[in-house]
Amino acid sequence: NLSVHSLYKHFKTKQGTLVALQNINLKIEQGEFVCAVGASGSGKSTLLRLIAGLDTPTSGEITVNGVSVTGPGADRGMVFQKYTLYPWMSVAQNVGFGLKLQGVPTTKRREQIAYYLDIVGLTQFAHALPKELSGGMQQRVAIARALASQPRILLMDEPFGALDAQTKEKMQQFLLELWQRTGTTILMITHDVEEALFLSQRLYVMSSRPGTIKTEVNMDLPGDRTYHSKKHSIFQD
Ligand code: ATP
Ligand code: MG
Repeated sequence: NLSVHSLYKHFKTKQGTLVALQNINLKIEQGEFVCAVGASGSGKSTLLRLIAGLDTPTSGEITVNGVSVTGPGADRGMVFQKYTLYPWMSVAQNVGFGLKLQGVPTTKRREQIAYYLDIVGLTQFAHALPKELSGGMQQRVAIARALASQPRILLMDEPFGALDAQTKEKMQQFLLELWQRTGTTILMITHDVEEALFLSQRLYVMSSRPGTIKTEVNMDLPGDRTYHSKKHSIFQD
């Protein structure tokens, strides 16, 4: 599980110190699907980057299964808004890239690649190049790549932000089914409230001045498109 305790992040800017995150506390249990929503500038990406170990907190602590996060690690898989696939590598090579870095032997690596390509439904595109795939498919490759290292938690920063409305809806459905099938722990950041209400079991609402968690909401069940009543009760203030 993931635990974030008294997390602060300050940035030094020409105007002085910018408080991007202030006293963030959160806990995500194994198997949960949690979203964090908030306006632009509320610190969502900063929070995810800190959890991913891509930047260091000013103070506070982040642990994954009780182990302090000090940098990037195989226990956390990351998916970004813009599918950041290596354009010169095939789909299969992209999915296996992290495994190769970890020194997983070829035979085992091939098995893992085949397994995760199957999970995202792209087996027949194993030898294709990223540019030959649609945006949604490329994002599925990025998800397969993140899952291939068998992380404790999948971190997603606006993963469907670059997709058209129809593809986005398909990908939301896909992610929900993937979560139900695999039991992967997911923390997803989005500014799309509808998306968060539809997908998550639990949801953190971030406030922009300055980056704090305003509310925590428990949803009944993810995958519920009849969330409008919940939405009004949460966001009316
Ligand atoms: P968006 O929805 O637009 O992606 P966000 O919620 O992800 O926004 P962040 O990118 O986390 O917001 O930024 C939070 C605040 O921290 C902003 O005021 C931003 O300008 C500032 N910030 C983020 N990264 C840096 C940096 N590397 N240097 C200075 N300030 C930064
Ligand atoms: Mg962001």
